[in-house]
Amino acid sequence: MPRVLSGIQPSGQLHLGNYCGAIRQFLDLQAQGHEMFVFVASYHALTSTRDPVALRANIRQIVVDYLAFGLDPDKTAIYVQHDVPEVTELAWLLSCVCPTSLMDKAVSYKDKLAKGFTANIGLYTYPILQAADILAPRADIVPVGKDQVQHIEITRDLAGRFNSEFSTDVFSLPAHRLAPDAEVLPGIDGEKMSKSYGNTIDPFMDEKPLRKRIMSIKTDSRQVNEVKDPETCAVFRIFRAIAGTRDPRTLELAAKYLDPSRQGPDGFGYGHAKQSLFELVLSVFAEPRARRAGLMADQGYIDQVLAQGAGKARAAARITVDQARRAVGL
Ligand code: ATP
Ligand code: MG
Repeated sequence: MPRVLSGIQPSGQLHLGNYCGAIRQFLDLQAQGHEMFVFVASYHALTSTRDPVALRANIRQIVVDYLAFGLDPDKTAIYVQHDVPEVTELAWLLSCVCPTSLMDKAVSYKDKLAKGFTANIGLYTYPILQAADILAPRADIVPVGKDQVQHIEITRDLAGRFNSEFSTDVFSLPAHRLAPDAEVLPGIDGEKMSKSYGNTIDPFMDEKPLRKRIMSIKTDSRQVNEVKDPETCAVFRIFRAIAGTRDPRTLELAAKYLDPSRQGPDGFGYGHAKQSLFELVLSVFAEPRARRAGLMADQGYIDQVLAQGAGKARAAARITVDQARRAVGL
Protein backbone atom coordinates (compact mmCIF):
# COMPACT_ATOMS: atom_id res chain seq x y z
CA MET A 1 0.00 0.00 0.00
CA PRO A 2 1.40 3.46 -0.85
CA ARG A 3 2.34 5.67 2.08
CA VAL A 4 0.24 8.78 2.70
CA LEU A 5 1.46 11.95 4.43
CA SER A 6 -0.01 15.38 5.03
CA GLY A 7 -0.02 18.15 7.62
CA ILE A 8 -1.80 21.30 8.74
CA GLN A 9 -0.25 24.42 10.26
CA PRO A 10 -1.26 25.37 13.82
CA SER A 11 -1.65 28.98 12.67
CA GLY A 12 -5.22 29.14 13.95
CA GLN A 13 -8.38 27.07 14.35
CA LEU A 14 -9.13 24.41 11.70
CA HIS A 15 -11.81 25.44 9.25
CA LEU A 16 -14.15 24.12 6.57
CA GLY A 17 -11.49 24.68 3.87
CA ASN A 18 -9.05 22.43 5.72
CA TYR A 19 -11.80 19.85 6.11
CA CYS A 20 -12.87 19.83 2.45
CA GLY A 21 -9.35 20.15 1.01
CA ALA A 22 -7.42 17.91 3.35
CA ILE A 23 -9.05 16.20 6.34
CA ARG A 24 -11.83 14.51 4.41
CA GLN A 25 -9.17 12.94 2.19
CA PHE A 26 -7.23 11.76 5.27
CA LEU A 27 -10.34 9.97 6.49
CA ASP A 28 -11.00 8.35 3.09
CA LEU A 29 -7.40 7.18 2.72
CA GLN A 30 -7.31 5.88 6.30
CA ALA A 31 -10.49 3.90 5.58
CA GLN A 32 -8.82 2.44 2.48
CA GLY A 33 -6.11 0.99 4.74
CA HIS A 34 -3.13 3.13 3.67
CA GLU A 35 -0.13 3.59 5.90
CA MET A 36 -0.72 7.13 7.16
CA PHE A 37 1.39 9.96 8.55
CA VAL A 38 -0.52 13.09 9.55
CA PHE A 39 1.25 15.85 11.43
CA VAL A 40 0.84 19.32 12.91
CA ALA A 41 3.19 21.67 11.05
CA SER A 42 4.48 23.56 14.09
CA TYR A 43 7.63 24.96 12.45
CA HIS A 44 5.64 26.15 9.45
CA ALA A 45 3.33 28.15 11.74
CA LEU A 46 6.36 30.14 12.97
CA THR A 47 6.49 31.80 9.56
CA SER A 48 3.38 33.75 10.63
CA THR A 49 2.70 33.33 14.40
CA ARG A 50 4.24 35.43 17.18
CA ASP A 51 2.17 34.30 20.15
CA PRO A 52 3.72 31.33 22.02
CA VAL A 53 0.67 30.78 24.22
CA ALA A 54 -1.66 30.69 21.22
CA LEU A 55 0.74 28.46 19.27
CA ARG A 56 0.90 25.90 22.08
CA ALA A 57 -2.89 25.88 22.34
CA ASN A 58 -3.37 25.64 18.56
CA ILE A 59 -1.02 22.65 18.32
CA ARG A 60 -3.01 20.72 20.94
CA GLN A 61 -6.30 21.81 19.37
CA ILE A 62 -5.39 20.51 15.94
CA VAL A 63 -4.47 17.12 17.38
CA VAL A 64 -7.77 16.99 19.28
CA ASP A 65 -9.63 17.98 16.11
CA TYR A 66 -7.84 15.33 14.01
CA LEU A 67 -9.05 12.74 16.52
CA ALA A 68 -12.54 14.26 16.71
CA PHE A 69 -12.86 14.07 12.92
CA GLY A 70 -12.01 10.37 13.13
CA LEU A 71 -8.29 9.90 12.62
CA ASP A 72 -7.37 6.70 14.42
CA PRO A 73 -3.91 6.66 16.07
CA ASP A 74 -3.66 2.90 15.54
CA LYS A 75 -3.95 3.43 11.78
CA THR A 76 -2.41 6.88 11.40
CA ALA A 77 0.82 8.17 12.94
CA ILE A 78 -0.26 11.54 14.36
CA TYR A 79 2.66 13.75 15.41
CA VAL A 80 3.95 17.27 15.81
CA GLN A 81 6.60 18.37 13.32
CA HIS A 82 9.15 19.58 15.90
CA ASP A 83 9.11 16.16 17.60
CA VAL A 84 10.81 14.79 14.47
CA PRO A 85 14.07 16.79 14.24
CA GLU A 86 15.29 14.62 11.36
CA VAL A 87 12.98 16.69 9.16
CA THR A 88 14.87 19.94 9.76
CA GLU A 89 18.16 18.19 9.10
CA LEU A 90 16.84 16.95 5.79
CA ALA A 91 15.51 20.41 4.97
CA TRP A 92 19.08 21.74 5.08
CA LEU A 93 20.33 19.06 2.71
CA LEU A 94 17.48 19.87 0.32
CA SER A 95 18.00 23.63 0.58
CA CYS A 96 21.51 23.12 -0.80
CA VAL A 97 20.09 21.77 -4.07
CA CYS A 98 17.29 24.35 -4.28
CA PRO A 99 17.78 27.24 -6.70
CA THR A 100 16.38 30.52 -5.32
CA SER A 101 14.33 30.87 -8.52
CA LEU A 102 12.21 27.91 -7.39
CA MET A 103 11.19 29.76 -4.20
CA ASP A 104 10.56 33.01 -6.10
CA LYS A 105 7.86 31.18 -8.07
CA ALA A 106 5.91 29.86 -5.04
CA VAL A 107 2.41 31.34 -5.19
CA SER A 108 1.51 30.85 -1.53
CA TYR A 109 4.50 33.02 -0.59
CA LYS A 110 3.44 35.66 -3.11
CA ASP A 111 -0.15 35.51 -1.81
CA LYS A 112 0.95 36.07 1.78
CA LEU A 113 3.18 38.98 0.76
CA ALA A 114 0.22 40.51 -1.07
CA LYS A 115 -1.77 40.17 2.20
CA GLY A 116 0.87 42.21 4.02
CA PHE A 117 2.78 39.43 5.82
CA THR A 118 6.44 40.11 6.54
CA ALA A 119 8.73 38.34 4.10
CA ASN A 120 10.88 36.35 6.53
CA ILE A 121 13.24 33.69 5.18
CA GLY A 122 11.12 30.98 6.85
CA LEU A 123 8.09 31.99 4.80
CA TYR A 124 10.21 32.22 1.67
CA THR A 125 11.76 28.76 2.03
CA TYR A 126 8.89 26.89 3.67
CA PRO A 127 8.33 24.70 0.58
CA ILE A 128 11.80 23.21 1.27
CA LEU A 129 10.83 22.28 4.82
CA GLN A 130 7.59 20.92 3.43
CA ALA A 131 9.57 18.80 0.95
CA ALA A 132 11.54 17.41 3.90
CA ASP A 133 8.29 16.65 5.76
CA ILE A 134 7.15 14.58 2.80
CA LEU A 135 10.42 12.94 1.79
CA ALA A 136 11.62 12.03 5.33
CA PRO A 137 9.12 9.20 5.90
CA ARG A 138 9.08 8.41 2.14
CA ALA A 139 5.49 9.36 1.42
CA ASP A 140 4.06 8.31 -1.96
CA ILE A 141 0.78 10.23 -1.81
CA VAL A 142 0.21 13.71 -0.36
CA PRO A 143 -3.49 14.62 -0.01
CA VAL A 144 -3.81 18.42 -0.10
CA GLY A 145 -6.08 21.25 -1.16
CA LYS A 146 -5.65 22.88 -4.56
CA ASP A 147 -3.61 25.77 -3.13
CA GLN A 148 -0.82 23.34 -2.22
CA VAL A 149 -0.37 21.49 -5.52
CA GLN A 150 2.53 23.69 -6.56
CA HIS A 151 4.41 22.83 -3.36
CA ILE A 152 4.20 19.13 -4.05
CA GLU A 153 5.64 19.87 -7.52
CA ILE A 154 8.49 21.66 -5.75
CA THR A 155 9.00 18.57 -3.57
CA ARG A 156 9.28 16.39 -6.68
CA ASP A 157 11.67 18.86 -8.24
CA LEU A 158 13.93 18.91 -5.15
CA ALA A 159 13.88 15.12 -4.80
CA GLY A 160 14.86 14.77 -8.47
CA ARG A 161 17.61 17.39 -8.20
CA PHE A 162 19.06 15.77 -5.08
CA ASN A 163 19.11 12.36 -6.77
CA SER A 164 20.71 13.67 -9.93
CA GLU A 165 23.24 16.07 -8.34
CA PHE A 166 24.48 13.38 -5.94
CA SER A 167 24.04 10.48 -8.41
CA THR A 168 21.80 8.61 -6.02
CA ASP A 169 18.29 7.19 -5.79
CA VAL A 170 17.62 8.09 -2.14
CA PHE A 171 14.28 9.72 -2.95
CA SER A 172 11.30 8.50 -4.90
CA LEU A 173 8.95 11.15 -6.23
CA PRO A 174 5.66 11.64 -4.32
CA ALA A 175 2.39 12.67 -5.98
CA HIS A 176 -0.26 15.07 -4.73
CA ARG A 177 -3.85 13.92 -4.34
CA LEU A 178 -6.84 16.20 -4.62
CA ALA A 179 -10.34 15.55 -3.32
CA PRO A 180 -12.87 14.83 -6.08
CA ASP A 181 -14.31 18.18 -7.30
CA ALA A 182 -11.60 19.97 -5.31
CA GLU A 183 -11.72 23.73 -5.22
CA VAL A 184 -10.19 26.40 -3.06
CA LEU A 185 -12.94 27.17 -0.58
CA PRO A 186 -13.78 30.87 -0.15
CA GLY A 187 -13.94 32.41 3.31
CA ILE A 188 -16.64 34.74 4.64
CA ASP A 189 -15.03 37.60 2.66
CA GLY A 190 -14.95 35.63 -0.62
CA GLU A 191 -11.12 35.28 -0.56
CA LYS A 192 -9.40 31.90 0.03
CA MET A 193 -10.50 30.62 3.44
CA SER A 194 -7.29 30.68 5.49
CA LYS A 195 -6.49 30.34 9.18
CA SER A 196 -4.22 33.35 8.99
CA TYR A 197 -6.68 35.59 7.11
CA GLY A 198 -9.35 35.72 9.86
CA ASN A 199 -12.08 34.76 7.37
CA THR A 200 -12.75 31.16 8.36
CA ILE A 201 -15.74 29.11 9.45
CA ASP A 202 -14.87 26.71 12.26
CA PRO A 203 -17.12 23.62 12.24
CA PHE A 204 -16.64 23.26 16.03
CA MET A 205 -18.03 26.68 16.96
CA ASP A 206 -20.97 26.81 19.36
CA GLU A 207 -24.28 27.00 17.52
CA LYS A 208 -25.01 30.66 18.12
CA PRO A 209 -21.66 32.13 16.99
CA LEU A 210 -21.55 29.57 14.18
CA ARG A 211 -24.88 30.79 12.83
CA LYS A 212 -23.75 34.39 13.19
CA ARG A 213 -20.53 33.62 11.33
CA ILE A 214 -22.37 31.92 8.46
CA MET A 215 -24.86 34.80 8.30
CA SER A 216 -21.88 37.16 7.86
CA ILE A 217 -20.68 35.56 4.59
CA LYS A 218 -20.36 38.30 2.00
CA THR A 219 -22.90 38.08 -0.86
CA ASP A 220 -23.93 40.43 -3.64
CA SER A 221 -26.94 42.70 -3.29
CA ARG A 222 -29.49 40.58 -5.20
CA GLN A 223 -32.86 40.51 -3.44
CA VAL A 224 -35.24 37.61 -2.76
CA ASN A 225 -37.14 38.31 -5.99
CA GLU A 226 -34.03 38.17 -8.20
CA VAL A 227 -32.34 35.21 -9.91
CA LYS A 228 -28.92 34.49 -8.37
CA ASP A 229 -25.72 32.92 -9.63
CA PRO A 230 -24.69 29.99 -7.41
CA GLU A 231 -21.25 29.72 -9.06
CA THR A 232 -20.15 33.14 -7.81
CA CYS A 233 -21.77 32.84 -4.37
CA ALA A 234 -19.50 31.85 -1.45
CA VAL A 235 -22.48 30.42 0.48
CA PHE A 236 -23.33 28.05 -2.35
CA ARG A 237 -19.72 27.09 -3.02
CA ILE A 238 -19.15 26.19 0.63
CA PHE A 239 -22.41 24.22 0.73
CA ARG A 240 -21.46 22.32 -2.44
CA ALA A 241 -17.97 21.54 -1.14
CA ILE A 242 -19.36 20.01 2.06
CA ALA A 243 -22.42 18.20 0.68
CA GLY A 244 -20.86 17.15 -2.67
CA THR A 245 -21.40 18.39 -6.22
CA ARG A 246 -23.96 15.77 -7.18
CA ASP A 247 -25.70 15.52 -3.82
CA PRO A 248 -29.47 16.13 -4.13
CA ARG A 249 -29.24 18.86 -1.45
CA THR A 250 -26.72 20.75 -3.59
CA LEU A 251 -28.81 20.38 -6.75
CA GLU A 252 -31.89 21.58 -4.88
CA LEU A 253 -30.07 24.63 -3.53
CA ALA A 254 -28.72 25.50 -7.03
CA ALA A 255 -32.25 25.24 -8.40
CA LYS A 256 -33.49 27.71 -5.80
CA TYR A 257 -30.82 30.23 -6.85
CA LEU A 258 -31.73 29.87 -10.52
CA ASP A 259 -35.46 29.22 -10.65
CA PRO A 260 -37.35 32.47 -11.37
CA SER A 261 -40.64 30.95 -10.16
CA ARG A 262 -39.24 30.93 -6.63
CA GLN A 263 -38.26 34.58 -6.76
CA GLY A 264 -41.50 36.31 -5.68
CA PRO A 265 -41.73 38.43 -2.53
CA ASP A 266 -41.74 35.14 -0.58
CA GLY A 267 -38.86 33.92 -2.75
CA PHE A 268 -35.42 32.73 -1.95
CA GLY A 269 -32.79 35.07 -0.53
CA TYR A 270 -29.21 34.70 0.66
CA GLY A 271 -30.50 34.47 4.24
CA HIS A 272 -32.29 31.24 3.30
CA ALA A 273 -29.16 29.87 1.64
CA LYS A 274 -27.13 30.70 4.75
CA GLN A 275 -29.68 28.99 7.00
CA SER A 276 -29.39 25.85 4.80
CA LEU A 277 -25.60 25.98 5.11
CA PHE A 278 -25.83 26.36 8.90
CA GLU A 279 -28.10 23.32 9.15
CA LEU A 280 -25.81 21.33 6.85
CA VAL A 281 -22.75 22.08 8.99
CA LEU A 282 -24.57 21.04 12.17
CA SER A 283 -25.70 17.75 10.65
CA VAL A 284 -22.46 16.80 8.84
CA PHE A 285 -20.29 17.60 11.87
CA ALA A 286 -22.63 16.32 14.59
CA GLU A 287 -20.39 13.37 15.55
CA PRO A 288 -17.03 15.19 15.56
CA ARG A 289 -18.62 18.04 17.54
CA ALA A 290 -19.89 15.56 20.14
CA ARG A 291 -16.55 13.68 20.36
CA ARG A 292 -14.42 16.77 20.76
CA ALA A 293 -15.29 17.75 24.34
CA GLY A 294 -14.29 14.34 25.74
CA LEU A 295 -10.97 14.44 23.89
CA MET A 296 -10.18 17.94 25.16
CA ALA A 297 -10.60 16.70 28.72
CA ASP A 298 -8.10 13.86 28.25
CA GLN A 299 -4.74 15.55 27.67
CA GLY A 300 -2.89 12.42 28.88
CA TYR A 301 -4.34 10.52 25.96
CA ILE A 302 -3.25 13.27 23.54
CA ASP A 303 0.34 13.02 24.87
CA GLN A 304 0.26 9.28 24.36
CA VAL A 305 -1.03 9.61 20.78
CA LEU A 306 1.70 12.14 19.94
CA ALA A 307 4.51 10.07 21.49
CA GLN A 308 3.40 7.00 19.54
CA GLY A 309 3.14 8.96 16.27
CA ALA A 310 6.48 10.72 16.69
CA GLY A 311 8.20 7.41 17.43
CA LYS A 312 6.95 5.96 14.18
CA ALA A 313 7.73 9.06 12.10
CA ARG A 314 11.23 9.43 13.58
CA ALA A 315 12.15 5.82 12.91
CA ALA A 316 11.13 6.18 9.26
CA ALA A 317 12.82 9.58 8.88
CA ARG A 318 16.11 8.49 10.46
CA ILE A 319 16.63 5.83 7.78
CA THR A 320 16.09 8.36 4.98
CA VAL A 321 18.27 11.06 6.54
CA ASP A 322 21.13 8.59 7.10
CA GLN A 323 20.94 7.59 3.44
CA ALA A 324 20.87 11.23 2.36
CA ARG A 325 23.89 12.03 4.57
CA ARG A 326 25.86 9.19 3.02
CA ALA A 327 24.85 10.28 -0.47
CA VAL A 328 26.27 13.81 0.03
CA GLY A 329 29.50 12.59 1.67
CA LEU A 330 28.77 13.05 5.39
P1 ATP B 1 -2.51 29.45 6.70
O1 ATP B 1 -3.41 30.63 6.47
O2 ATP B 1 -1.72 29.55 7.95
O3 ATP B 1 -1.68 29.10 5.48
P2 ATP B 1 -4.46 27.51 5.90
O4 ATP B 1 -5.85 27.74 6.35
O5 ATP B 1 -4.11 27.85 4.48
O6 ATP B 1 -3.50 28.21 6.95
P3 ATP B 1 -2.77 25.19 5.88
O7 ATP B 1 -2.30 24.61 7.17
O8 ATP B 1 -1.84 26.06 5.11
O9 ATP B 1 -4.14 25.97 6.16
O10 ATP B 1 -3.27 24.03 4.93
C1 ATP B 1 -3.70 22.75 5.44
C2 ATP B 1 -4.41 21.99 4.34
O11 ATP B 1 -5.69 22.58 4.09
C3 ATP B 1 -3.67 21.99 2.99
O12 ATP B 1 -3.82 20.72 2.40
C4 ATP B 1 -4.38 23.04 2.19
O13 ATP B 1 -4.30 22.80 0.80
C5 ATP B 1 -5.82 22.89 2.70
N1 ATP B 1 -6.55 24.15 2.58
C6 ATP B 1 -6.28 25.31 3.22
N2 ATP B 1 -7.16 26.25 2.90
C7 ATP B 1 -8.01 25.69 2.00
C8 ATP B 1 -9.14 26.17 1.28
N3 ATP B 1 -9.56 27.42 1.43
N4 ATP B 1 -9.77 25.32 0.43
C9 ATP B 1 -9.34 24.05 0.27
N5 ATP B 1 -8.29 23.52 0.93
C10 ATP B 1 -7.62 24.33 1.79
MG1 MG C 1 -2.05 27.74 3.86
